[in-house]
Amino acid sequence: MSQTKYIFVTGGVTSSLGKGIIAASLAKLLQARGYRTTIQKLDPYINVDPGTLNPYEHGECYVTDDGAETDLDLGHYERFLNVRTSQANNVTTGRIYQSVIEKERKGEFLGKTVQVVPHITNEIKERIQILGNSGDYDIVITEIGGTVGDIESLPYIEAVRQLLWDLGDNNGIVVHLTLVPFLSAAGELKTKPTQHSVKTLMESGIKADILVCRTEHHISDDIKRKLALFCNVKQEAVIQSIDASTIYDVPMLMREEGLDKVALEKLALPNDVEPELGQWKQFLQKHKNPKHQVTIGLIGKYVELQDSYKSILESFIHAGAANEVKVVVRSIHSEHLSANDVDKRLMGLDGILVAPGFGERGIEGKIKAVQYARENSIPFLGICLGMQMAVIEFARNVLGYDKANSTEMNPATPDPVINLMEEQKKVTNMGGTMRLGAWDCDLQEGSLVHEVYGETEIAERHRHRFEFNNDYKSQLDEAGLKATGYNPKTGLVEVIEIPAHPWFIGVQYHPEYKSTVANPHPLFVGFVKAVLAQKQQQTNASLA
Ligand code: GLN
Repeated sequence: MSQTKYIFVTGGVTSSLGKGIIAASLAKLLQARGYRTTIQKLDPYINVDPGTLNPYEHGECYVTDDGAETDLDLGHYERFLNVRTSQANNVTTGRIYQSVIEKERKGEFLGKTVQVVPHITNEIKERIQILGNSGDYDIVITEIGGTVGDIESLPYIEAVRQLLWDLGDNNGIVVHLTLVPFLSAAGELKTKPTQHSVKTLMESGIKADILVCRTEHHISDDIKRKLALFCNVKQEAVIQSIDASTIYDVPMLMREEGLDKVALEKLALPNDVEPELGQWKQFLQKHKNPKHQVTIGLIGKYVELQDSYKSILESFIHAGAANEVKVVVRSIHSEHLSANDVDKRLMGLDGILVAPGFGERGIEGKIKAVQYARENSIPFLGICLGMQMAVIEFARNVLGYDKANSTEMNPATPDPVINLMEEQKKVTNMGGTMRLGAWDCDLQEGSLVHEVYGETEIAERHRHRFEFNNDYKSQLDEAGLKATGYNPKTGLVEVIEIPAHPWFIGVQYHPEYKSTVANPHPLFVGFVKAVLAQKQQQTNASLA
């Protein structure tokens, strides 16, 4: 296919309708029909990337192989498509302006007045086409963050309008995601908000080609006809998106509604090959029919907002399906864990995961949770800060260095078992300066982590400034906490484990970013497997 085709996904009426999931589901269906598809997210905020955002603001910050700190929707794209994303897949207003201003400073605009139209819009158009021009994709789906009518989204909408014109007929289409609310007093689904948001889009010169209507109730043919008539689309282009029990059902629901079929028709692409969704269906079958159940505690400090740990929660879904286990994740606020009540609060957990994080708040609770898992032989996985807390706990309670700490929490600690990486010492700016993206790691033969991965050379994604302090390595090793994964070039410790414990692993990297439906992450699969095995062993022992 020579001409790359573009699908723009806009949102109307309200935010949080799940544009990312609709975009990912459509991409999945197109991919399953053999089209090379990728997705891009344009975010209208002024932060250059979400790396400087608190998780409470915008949920988890997702990290790509190339070290981009991105919107969590990119996580959905990778999990659905099993295709890697990169910096080019997420662009913010901040990044657009930064690059236009840099060009202005270099004198690239040759004395012209630099304006939103055409300079900002041109930059947006260029960013949209980078993926298409790479030659790697037949179809690029671009999700425009925010809601149509927002002040901040205007330059994006204008850029899309121009690009649709540049691309010409059948090369670019607009899928508009909207809400069809149910008014219980009237007992009716209402189409007016959709009519208004389509009108708002039209005021900017964009005609929606397909409407995807989020709804809690079935949308009748009559309502579809009405929406089609008032919103200027064909009736088969009014797609119902009813609430689903899992996001992984959405591609199947969109398939039933024919979203992929209409999109391909509008793009003048063949739609006679049926999507190949065998593996996806198999995953759904296992996910929905688990044979066992385990409860895993997720110890974190942003637990009030589920989106803060999105990739971890999704990794458990993938690993659960792989093991035919329902993983019930119990979120536990680390700030609320104290020495007096840790036993009570963590009782009944079959496994414990201590989450990533930054700063001092809630870390003593995390350390208590590690101690509880270690002393009670409960399978344990520590991720990034969770791994660092495991090292601190061991140094304090096994080696007896009771003031051991990370210099992130206490720069004056006498025992900095975790300290700032050398290259971080000269860093002054906060944005984009952590150790980011994929780095190689060698796993020690014969270790638990080696058994879990089944290989010795891996590469995993990172997002941190602090590291295991190698000055303490031999003491920790002698006392039973072993470093079993290293960066081959720098010797930086990537993995620790406690061989005397049934299953205790801490990793400096973030395995959760790489787990997908097609490739559940081995660490999560291994962890869930160990949790189940131990639970079954205990049940058998108590029955004997
Ligand atoms: N705050 C720790 C560091 O910067 C851990 C980071 C994380 O958990 N992502 O090293």
